[in-house]
Amino acid sequence: ESVVNRIAAGEVIQRPVSAVKELVENSLDAHSTSINVIVKDGGLKLIQVSDDGHGIRYEDLPILCERHTTSKLSAYEDLQSIKSMGFRGEALASMTYVAHVTVTTITEGQLHGYRVSYRDGAMENQPKACAAVKGTQIMVENLFYNMIARRKTLQNSADDYSKIVDLLSRFAIHHTNVSFSCRKHGAARADVHSVVTSSRLDSIRSVYGVSVARNVMKIEVSDSNPSSSVFDMNGFISDANYTAKKTTMVLFINDRLVECTGLKRAIEIVYAATLPKASKPFVYMSIVLPPEHVDVNVHPTKREVSLLNQEIIVEKIQLAVESKLRSSNE
Ligand code: ADP
Ligand code: MG
Repeated sequence: ESVVNRIAAGEVIQRPVSAVKELVENSLDAHSTSINVIVKDGGLKLIQVSDDGHGIRYEDLPILCERHTTSKLSAYEDLQSIKSMGFRGEALASMTYVAHVTVTTITEGQLHGYRVSYRDGAMENQPKACAAVKGTQIMVENLFYNMIARRKTLQNSADDYSKIVDLLSRFAIHHTNVSFSCRKHGAARADVHSVVTSSRLDSIRSVYGVSVARNVMKIEVSDSNPSSSVFDMNGFISDANYTAKKTTMVLFINDRLVECTGLKRAIEIVYAATLPKASKPFVYMSIVLPPEHVDVNVHPTKREVSLLNQEIIVEKIQLAVESKLRSSNE
């Protein structure tokens, strides 16, 4: 049974960055305003995510790491209008099958917190009372210690670390009301450091740098034709002065970080056709649409989404991008 669980867990947590994404989404779900990530050896040795969210109640600790245990789904209907990012209750459990997981947490109004370690979907010992500041800290140590082949394929720690930095950068520019940091263990300097800002452009500047922020334009599309598509999009896209060899596409749909290859390709086509100089774009978009129009992926590793009336939505966004590029290029 343990081998089966481990294999299933290895599917949910494919690389260190998948663990970071799940942990940070849990912190966001807990209404944190500050999320700090520390990484050692590309995440294989240590991933630590600390937040100042609502914490985990003592009585929930024993089942926290059981598979399919979630505090976020009370009824089936909730699936239709799911707002929170987690709803599967599988991420933390999976981590305990392929790593050593330690949780330190304190809930509001408590005098002390609790610390407890997990293995193979269960607590290793009773939670111990400890001093704690507001929120939750989760340490994932020795990831894939029991998956020799996986560890071998993940020897390039610089590559995994840059994936983690990239992920945190994306969260940071979307969640402007949350401060994020990401650093290597023992490093004085953070590689992602965002403070709470009032403007999206400020956070793009602080995360992606002045040269990106200088060359992006605001874009907005709204559509409320119930017979074709209903959606709101707002974002920032690069102008003719921006240069990059690779597309950066940061896409949030209903506040979930996702990928939509169809939309990405469609935007790349507009850039190639509209701008003389063939630079790949920088695109940040936040799309809001009725939750029942998003195909919710039950499989946790799939970030790819599909949308109801996707062709119509993609075409409207393409038109908006094109007219923005043309007007800026005049
Ligand atoms: P899911 O997010 O799908 O519910 P997870 O395995 O990611 O499942 O987490 C299990 C549960 O642990 C969550 O439902 C939540 O109640 C609790 N939890 C995990 N991380 C945190 C956190 N940082 N702050 C508060 N609660 C958390
Ligand atoms: Mg989760």
